[in-house]
Amino acid sequence: MDLLITDAVIVTPDGILDRSAIAVTGDRIAAIGSNHDLAQRFPRHERMDGRSLAVLPGLVNAHTHTALTILRGTVEDWDGNAVYGYMSPVSYEMSGEERAVMVQLGCLEAIRSGCTTLVEPFRHIPSFGHAMAATGLRLWMSENAADINTLRIRQGDYAEDRAFGQVFLDRTVQMIEMFHGTHGGRVQCQVAAHAPDNCSPWILRQLMDLSAKHGLTRTVHLAQSIEEIRAVRAMRDATPAEYLDREGFLGPDLVGAHWTFCSPSDVELLASRGVQMAHCPANSSRRGPHKAPIGLIRDAGVNIALGTDNMTEDMFQAMKIGQIIHRGGRGRAKEDGVSPQPEDTFRMATINGARSVGAAAEIGTLEVGKKADLTILDLRTPSLRPIIRLLASVVHYGHPAAVHSVMVDGRFLMRDRRVLSLDEEFLVDEAQRVAKRVWERMLAKNPDIPPPPGGLRWLDL
Ligand SMILES: [Zn+2]
Repeated sequence: MDLLITDAVIVTPDGILDRSAIAVTGDRIAAIGSNHDLAQRFPRHERMDGRSLAVLPGLVNAHTHTALTILRGTVEDWDGNAVYGYMSPVSYEMSGEERAVMVQLGCLEAIRSGCTTLVEPFRHIPSFGHAMAATGLRLWMSENAADINTLRIRQGDYAEDRAFGQVFLDRTVQMIEMFHGTHGGRVQCQVAAHAPDNCSPWILRQLMDLSAKHGLTRTVHLAQSIEEIRAVRAMRDATPAEYLDREGFLGPDLVGAHWTFCSPSDVELLASRGVQMAHCPANSSRRGPHKAPIGLIRDAGVNIALGTDNMTEDMFQAMKIGQIIHRGGRGRAKEDGVSPQPEDTFRMATINGARSVGAAAEIGTLEVGKKADLTILDLRTPSLRPIIRLLASVVHYGHPAAVHSVMVDGRFLMRDRRVLSLDEEFLVDEAQRVAKRVWERMLAKNPDIPPPPGGLRWLDL
């Protein structure tokens, strides 16, 4: 759309402007400057009064699984392996339609949380990619490939299964054909290896060939759990990072999520190969502060992007908890007490995320010529006042309710707190119905999967 927002606070890479204007023409930022100049240059653009609003670059969630909103309120307080115990089984149990509902619930939360971009490695993408694209969000989707059956790992079976793996390779190609570069380039694809403990050298090679053939960036879960570390040691006699390096899988086009149990030499190796990090500090801290050696990772100059991972799309949580985790990252309060600064953390949630998918020239900052992906905050939000250092307030005290409007590609997905791209009322109730149905079916069909800790008590809404 053609829009001129006037009298706003505007967060640019060169500083924070107040009482200023930003013009959007079509899907791009056309100008940033004084109210007077831009009013003259864009007389026919629709006007929006930006008084008490802050225009920020859209938040980039560098690692999430929107369909796993279905597990919200179940496995967070359990100390078992949720990945193979619940997440993999539930991803198979849902039908395409059911996945689409849960994915849209996640996207709805993302929009209300000020996100404009989601990076989504999951399974069965062709079954729900259309529903995700329909939300208007900017997307990087990938099919989480594995050739060790992730439905059997919970029983301790790590047998390689090429037929199982081939399904993901075929589905990756199908996904690329269906979605890559569609919706005016708003929807793109990556190649994903699920994790080092469920991918053989054979499938890693196939995935590298696919990414080279299609020119796609890549992602992998990395050193996420103690079980993964043990399994990779037993099968490959290496750490996950060493194993991926031996197979030639590490490189600057690869983003590793988590790095939780990386050793100092793993960090050195990953950094030397230019691997980027999707850090999911809120999710990774649910069972206690995240253990990743974040001080070493920062010192090594790794590009750190922020993600939410499972069961939430709230990037404010990621920034807030990430800031705390990073500040304690070297275990020395004296040097680490106030580092990173909120400006650094905000960059992790925006431009670093853009860089992680190779899109720093298009999104991640408010600059003329870049895509018009905007997060607009209501500065009348009590928790943000008084406003002195805006980004300090946003990182320490920001929350989804402060989000006023969200624009992607020059189109409002939410305007003045009304979501425009989804039927919010229907969706939240439908998600409740779907979650109940899927949980009951999954437990009935799989006697070895126990009800989640505390059981399932469905409230009568
Ligand atoms: Zn993940």
